[in-house]
Amino acid sequence: MSHIAFIGLGNMGAPMAHNLLKAGHELAVFDLSNSAVQGLAGAGARPAPSAIAAVEGASVVISMLPASTHVHGLYLGQQGIVPHIADGALVIDCSTISAATAQAVAAALSARGLQTLDAPVSGGTAGAAAGTLTFIVGGEAETLERARPYLSAMGTNIFHAGGSGAGQVAKICNNMLLGILMAGTAEALALGAAHGLDPKVLSDIMGKSSGRNWALEVYNPYPGVMENAPASRGYTGGFGVDLMHKDLGLAAEAAIAARCAVPLGELARNLYGLHSLSGAGAMDFSSIIQPLLKDQLY
Ligand code: NAD
Repeated sequence: MSHIAFIGLGNMGAPMAHNLLKAGHELAVFDLSNSAVQGLAGAGARPAPSAIAAVEGASVVISMLPASTHVHGLYLGQQGIVPHIADGALVIDCSTISAATAQAVAAALSARGLQTLDAPVSGGTAGAAAGTLTFIVGGEAETLERARPYLSAMGTNIFHAGGSGAGQVAKICNNMLLGILMAGTAEALALGAAHGLDPKVLSDIMGKSSGRNWALEVYNPYPGVMENAPASRGYTGGFGVDLMHKDLGLAAEAAIAARCAVPLGELARNLYGLHSLSGAGAMDFSSIIQPLLKDQLY
């Protein structure tokens, strides 16, 4: 069993760390939120007073932070952990961040002779709790084989997208498509409901027709259509509007870097941005249907 440092114990990181503990690993944990650290300490992890203290002596370092700026600060900032990571350690960042930041962090770690992967995830908080996440990995194939036992303790599907940063590119392509599909699904359901259709019946019709998609069938945005979807619990406990807005911003950045057009991705980014400005930033992203519902328009 390995000595793992886990940094970032939020909605995703905490359940992922719990699954590593359940698999029998020793964990040193750090988060800026003391209550998040105490939650893991209660389950048997060693609370560390700083990120530097967490990584000292660890053979594996895993991070799960909100955005590029946090990951850049953790590894490369003034109190960055890169010089403090033990020789020979394996480093896995699971945050969804820009490919450029992932590559900059990987370059600094490689310069120290450390093996590293970008390994963003898909599957949401439910997948993190159940240990059924999908990992989308960028880095060397040999490093992925070394990481596989740890990733398998937290997820069921592991894809090798390519070299350093490729995991992040694949992840944001997926999330750009998801953001567009959710906005389109919301529009179609709101239009049908405005004409008096039962949104459940309309969902069943589209689910067996050419408009079928994951947002409609697994994560339906219309309240009450799907018992376990965030829409049926006040748009709580899912993937936040602000995180979707961040990911669509990453897609826009990637498009500029590759001189590529993403018109629907940009439109979706603006829709989620406006929705966030209206006060919905912390709600689940399927709440993008709310401004479209007829009785809120008139
Ligand atoms: P979150 O905001 O719930 O958790 C982030 C945690 O990081 C917080 O506890 C925060 O205190 C901590 N943190 C921030 N800076 C830190 C630092 N310098 N040192 C230590 N701790 C620090 O976010 P989340 O929902 O867990 O998402 C994490 C990442 O996973 C994001 O990149 C997100 O896009 C991605 N993601 C989220 C979901 C989801 O459904 N929530 C799904 C897939 C991917």
